[in-house]
Amino acid sequence: MSTPHYSNGRAHAVQSIASITPPPPCAAAPANVQCYGEDVFDAAAMREYLPKATCKELLATIERGEPLNTEIAGDVAHAMKEWAIARGATSYTHWFQPLTGSTAEKHDSFLEPDGCRAILAFSGKSLIKGEPDASSFPSGGLRSTFEARGYTAWDPTSPAFIKRHGNGATLCIPTAFCSYTGEALDKKTPLLRSVQALTESTRRLMKCFGLPGDEKVSVTLGAEQEYFLIDKQFYVLRPDIQQTGRTLFGTAPAKHQQLEDHYFGAIRQRVINFMSEVEQNLWKLGIPAKTRHNEVAPAQFELAPVFEDVNLACDHNMLIMEVLRQTAERHGFVCLLHEKPFSGVNGSGKHNNWSVNYGKRNLLNPGSNPQDNAIFLAVLCAIIEAVDRHADLLRSSVTGAGNDHRLGANEAPPAVMSMYLGDQLAAVIDHLETGADSQGSTARSMEIGVDTLPPLPKDATDRNRTSPFAFTGNKFEFRAPGSSHSCSGPNIVLNVIVAEAFDRMAAVLENTPAAEFNTVLQAHLRRIIKDHKRVIFNGDGYTREWLEEAERRGLPHARSTMDSLHCLVTPENVALFERYHVFSARELDSRYDVFMEDYHRKVRIEGEVSLEMAENMILPVVCTDYKSMLSALTAAKSSGIAAGTAALQAKVEQLGSLLDALHARCAELRAALQGKHEDILAAMTALRAAVDAVEPQVDNSKWPLPKYREMLFLY
Ligand code: ADP
Ligand code: MG
Repeated sequence: MSTPHYSNGRAHAVQSIASITPPPPCAAAPANVQCYGEDVFDAAAMREYLPKATCKELLATIERGEPLNTEIAGDVAHAMKEWAIARGATSYTHWFQPLTGSTAEKHDSFLEPDGCRAILAFSGKSLIKGEPDASSFPSGGLRSTFEARGYTAWDPTSPAFIKRHGNGATLCIPTAFCSYTGEALDKKTPLLRSVQALTESTRRLMKCFGLPGDEKVSVTLGAEQEYFLIDKQFYVLRPDIQQTGRTLFGTAPAKHQQLEDHYFGAIRQRVINFMSEVEQNLWKLGIPAKTRHNEVAPAQFELAPVFEDVNLACDHNMLIMEVLRQTAERHGFVCLLHEKPFSGVNGSGKHNNWSVNYGKRNLLNPGSNPQDNAIFLAVLCAIIEAVDRHADLLRSSVTGAGNDHRLGANEAPPAVMSMYLGDQLAAVIDHLETGADSQGSTARSMEIGVDTLPPLPKDATDRNRTSPFAFTGNKFEFRAPGSSHSCSGPNIVLNVIVAEAFDRMAAVLENTPAAEFNTVLQAHLRRIIKDHKRVIFNGDGYTREWLEEAERRGLPHARSTMDSLHCLVTPENVALFERYHVFSARELDSRYDVFMEDYHRKVRIEGEVSLEMAENMILPVVCTDYKSMLSALTAAKSSGIAAGTAALQAKVEQLGSLLDALHARCAELRAALQGKHEDILAAMTALRAAVDAVEPQVDNSKWPLPKYREMLFLY
């Protein structure tokens, strides 16, 4: 048998990917919806495994937010264990979300030695509280390793679930993670606190409109997840992707996404096989994966679940990212969740579709009668006020070394936070603002303002993709979060700033006699619109003109993580979060420290990887090409051959200058690595330009790194 000859690993990868044949359609087991929720300890499992009374109490906590009765923990733990063992589990873990932005788990088996045999046990105490000695997680000074107490606390509102592996399974219990002094060390605790804050403010505001003040408030979130897939054989040849999640070198090929032929295109067999396995895995976990499609960039895709309660949706998004990564491996892919894995084509975001519900009423649904419309307009105006007042905080909730490459890169919303309402709503808002002046009667114009609305056609279509914060029919879509982010940060901020705006409005409306209510409301909404309409922008957010206009309007524009993060610790923002009991000053300080450090570390790692790759992967290849051209030139000259020597001479000189430039840029980056992150970033950009200039000039068969045209198109 002849062994194929490959000039390098990259050529081998290309050859071997070419020979992959995906199974023919429907060769595998057909998709199965019956599996939905089979690995979740949900209401049905509770009813089966728990005594009736306990089940009722637990469901009251989960469904109506009633305080947890800790007396029932023993029963619940026992039921969970029995349920999990029946599904092959031998261990359990408290599953939590430290400030690293990932999820964390430390497994303990149910095993309890009992003389010379063992029993399987799980106590109420172990369910409610864990002490994972997780002293190495970043805490930003909230605790030092010598006082390494971090506690995990059961969150009964997010159901326990099972994670399976090749030869077993683990019961996972969603938990909050706090220090022994009760300070939040995670992303879930402040999210739950922010929902509580918004619950109270919403009830207060709804009472003003004559609604009962005790309905359940639910914040809903549907997070659309974008990602890239590349073949694993390319991944193993790219140290940059392995270490930093993105390509530090490489140029977009002549054809990339210009023809927009990938967006919503037919999904390739190998990819759809992957996608449907992802869905199966998510459905088992009770995650309602619903939509899948090809995205704009080649090799880019999207998955969207049906919206859920925000706490659950945040947990589920963390699991979605994990399932995407793990399932990709089984299919010979690697799933890239970085915000900008490839330069020159679109990056990946996570569209955060958010809404607030009061009882069964979605407060962002334009109503069909005057009272509903008044509520809708009031809520809309409160959100306008919230976004304008706290654009800095919204911006800070989407920072990160990865997203810095995406925001404002003309395929993602700019870093200026503005709102898109669409023409129809913008006209209603205009009318609300000016109506009274032109009509002379506030009460009448309020009626008109309300009456011009109904019945607003539900406009779920998305007519402006360039806005970071767009009204899309019955929800706001915050498009700035990055694909790798936890959803918690943006939703914590949204909940708190809207809670504040609701409270402001309630303070104005409370105790207003019924006869004056409309007039007072009208005046308040007009004031909000006058003061905050600068944040509304319905045009093209990708243009330079908008950035200039935004500056004239005085909208903040934090271009990078470094420009944005400090707002977490300004006195006004600390006061805001403290007032709503979402973050203490210390908790904010700690987040500021952790996020800054994370940013600095990532930049430094990228710098070091860049330098190493340039010096020991790229330079040798250029040197080899240079040497072989030079010897050819010398040989031609010494044998008196004239033909070709001019071209060879030119090539040697060209490679020589590229080589000089590479050397110089490497030296600069080496020096920059001793200093500040800005210098590292600048030196990395310069080195990238030098490497990318060399890529098309050296022998293709020797280039060691899989090229963009291969990674983006061969899969
Ligand atoms: P797009 O046009 O942006 O692709 P879709 O209309 O398909 O948007 O919906 C995107 C996401 O918004 C889905 O996850 C969907 O479940 C979610 N969504 C729909 N209604 C709501 C709501 N009331 N609250 C939160 N998310 C919602
Ligand atoms: Mg969307």
